[in-house]
Amino acid sequence: MQDLLIRNADVVVTMNPARQELRGTDIHLRGGVIVALGAGLVVPGARVIEAGGRVVTPGLINTHHHLYQTLTRAVPGGQDALLFGWLKTLYPIWARFGPGEMFTSAQVGLAELALSGCTLTSDHLYLYPNGARLDDTIHAATEIGLRFHPTRGAMSIGESAGGLPPDSLVEGEAAILNDMIRVVDAFHDPRPGAMVRVGLAPCSPFSVSRELMRDTASLARDKGVMLHTHLAENDEDVAWSLARFGCRPGQYAEDLGWTGPDVWHAHCVKLDGSEIDLFAQTGTGVAHCPCSNCRLGSGIAPVRAMRDAGVKIGLGVDGSASNDAGNLIGEARMATLLQRVAHGADAISAREALEIATLGGARVLGRDDLGSIEPGKRADLAIWDLGGVEAAGAWDPVAALVLCGPTRVQDLIVEGREVVRDGQLLTVDLPMLIERQNQLARKLAG
Ligand code: ZN
Repeated sequence: MQDLLIRNADVVVTMNPARQELRGTDIHLRGGVIVALGAGLVVPGARVIEAGGRVVTPGLINTHHHLYQTLTRAVPGGQDALLFGWLKTLYPIWARFGPGEMFTSAQVGLAELALSGCTLTSDHLYLYPNGARLDDTIHAATEIGLRFHPTRGAMSIGESAGGLPPDSLVEGEAAILNDMIRVVDAFHDPRPGAMVRVGLAPCSPFSVSRELMRDTASLARDKGVMLHTHLAENDEDVAWSLARFGCRPGQYAEDLGWTGPDVWHAHCVKLDGSEIDLFAQTGTGVAHCPCSNCRLGSGIAPVRAMRDAGVKIGLGVDGSASNDAGNLIGEARMATLLQRVAHGADAISAREALEIATLGGARVLGRDDLGSIEPGKRADLAIWDLGGVEAAGAWDPVAALVLCGPTRVQDLIVEGREVVRDGQLLTVDLPMLIERQNQLARKLAG
């Protein structure tokens, strides 16, 4: 692989322990790793990316998504519903998906993320109709070139057993556990610099049994992989937990082994003070999904309180059916605005939002090799052109990235490889991908 030299960046937002922002700086990348930062670096034979007028940040990290949902954006009937009603509208449509829909939909979601500065995304795939497999999304990510943490999700309690999803979308629990073992053995890479790490992720407490939650936690610890699910997303979700389990979601998670540094929960909009303390004490992570929480009217997650208590928080765009966009830098802006609505204009700074979007996500996903621009860290970088109309007149280029834009990256580098150059994806033919996606969406709608 050819060395890369990013030359003369206006600002490099390092996210190192001192949170340094370096002016007029070069970055040398070799073999997937950041080798050096400094002014006037000379690297014979390197490909040079001129970064004058640009801001360089660590690659953004997305901690919650359902890539398959990009095929069901803005679906009539789901547009204005709360979480449970929204799910009931979309389940029958998702039941018609197969491997082709999973692959193409994932590629569209990954392309959108890449163009918004994301270098690592997790994904939560919890339904496997008509022969679809987790493998479909892993192949999609490998082709796009993003670092990928897919999670083998699951639903096992259908309508006839008192659950929310239709029976056609649920699987037997033995089959779920067997496939979890298969995908971990086939794809999980525990080494530093890994491009693929697999997690285990029953969909939510309201779609699987207590036994499956517990068995999955044991399996994850046996295999050394992470655990993920949805938790305390809205009032309905908490009410379900109290009615069915006789306890709040945090208690339910704790009882079943679902707290710890190897666990992260999506949403957590309704965590109370004792649950926040529980998460902080156990090192349990949170995927904060501000746009989705707005879109579904779920509420404002207690991000300020969680950060103050020391809870690890990353950002998540969530599935494109409930956002309906998948723009990660846009999510950082929304995270900032939403905390300010609840707690005032000094509740969170643009720089803190950027930290959550980068270093925060790396911590949630257990990646101490990512999240900052320092020698020895993996070479995952986003380069932003502040010369466009969005940021024209901005006095502070780092804050401008969150408060103004751009919302599309100029260059994106993952493991030392260029995935986006001059605003264009290098790895797939995007117009053809969009055409294929729209054909599939029309077929599903017809
Ligand atoms: Zn979700």
